[in-house]
Amino acid sequence: MDRSSSLRENPDVGPADLVRELVKIPSPSGEEAAVAEYLASWLEQRGLEAHREGRNVWISKGEGKTLLLCSHLDTVPVGDGWTKPPLEALKEGEKIWGRGANDAKASVAAMASVVAEMKPPAGARLVFAATCEEETGRPGGLPDLLPSLGKIDAAIVGEPTGLAPVIAQKGLLALEVVVSGKQAHAARPEEGENAIQRAASAILSLEALRFERTHPALGVPTAVPTVIKGGDRRNTIPARVELSIDVRTTPSYEPSELRDLVARALGPHAQVTVRSERIRAVDTDPAHPIVRAAVAATDGAATRGSPTVSDWAFLRGIPAVKLGPGESRRSHTADEFVLEGEVERGVAVYRRVVEEFFAGKTSH
Ligand SMILES: [Zn+2]
Repeated sequence: MDRSSSLRENPDVGPADLVRELVKIPSPSGEEAAVAEYLASWLEQRGLEAHREGRNVWISKGEGKTLLLCSHLDTVPVGDGWTKPPLEALKEGEKIWGRGANDAKASVAAMASVVAEMKPPAGARLVFAATCEEETGRPGGLPDLLPSLGKIDAAIVGEPTGLAPVIAQKGLLALEVVVSGKQAHAARPEEGENAIQRAASAILSLEALRFERTHPALGVPTAVPTVIKGGDRRNTIPARVELSIDVRTTPSYEPSELRDLVARALGPHAQVTVRSERIRAVDTDPAHPIVRAAVAATDGAATRGSPTVSDWAFLRGIPAVKLGPGESRRSHTADEFVLEGEVERGVAVYRRVVEEFFAGKTSH
């Protein structure tokens, strides 16, 4: 189908219609080119200069103090268990069904609608970026696009938060553990050291680990075993067990401190290595103007923390709030949906965030 010609016949696509158009173009991570193309023509049709960089789309309006609105174009794969068509954007009453409707095409559509209609005041610049590879963290997404966007003073990260301002987000520290023992014949267990039994007590000690520092929005970190592999033969005392430990971090600890705490809890037979510490925990001062703008825009909604990661982790210290239409628990599930009213409220909230931030009503 020629999407740009169908767009020309339908120039007044509203935000909920735009969500549906975006859902109809499948965009699992790595395959965002077609949806990026569609969004770029949608923006160009509204007189904006849409920049394409890889499978990202961005626009910039005005000059000066800069607010970035960003969200992602990619989705997780459709997966199993759907009772609704996942890529038709079926509308039933208020519900728009489909993969990516909630995470995060509703945010993309609401942000695009706001930047299309708003003109930043003198001394202000509004940037909108719709990026790829958010769900995988592979190269090519926001971290690589960021240098092209120029200096950014604050950002809104569009993710389904029920339009509650999220001011802190946990990070991810991935640890790999090898628990060592000594091989022996299973008939003479006393001659070996059983790595499975050692791993079992190490896991129980990890479960007993308590973190002392509590973050005001995120609470304490978590550290849980997610993969275990060990043993070769049914009649041999195993000498090696491998574990993966998933640690969700908070800004109250350096990742290296958490690695050490986990290693100490696991005990002397466990060797711990860091597989990834790229996704850092982030938070924004509740008194920062971007938080105040988000709170004002949501009529004083309570701020909170979020355990799930997003591209916010890659904003390199830019003060940010995660905020968007839809609900996090619907993401990555079968029968994902977003409500038309949520999208419309998303537009109203983003519009007000921009107004409040640039009005300086929220000065520090
Ligand atoms: Zn998302």
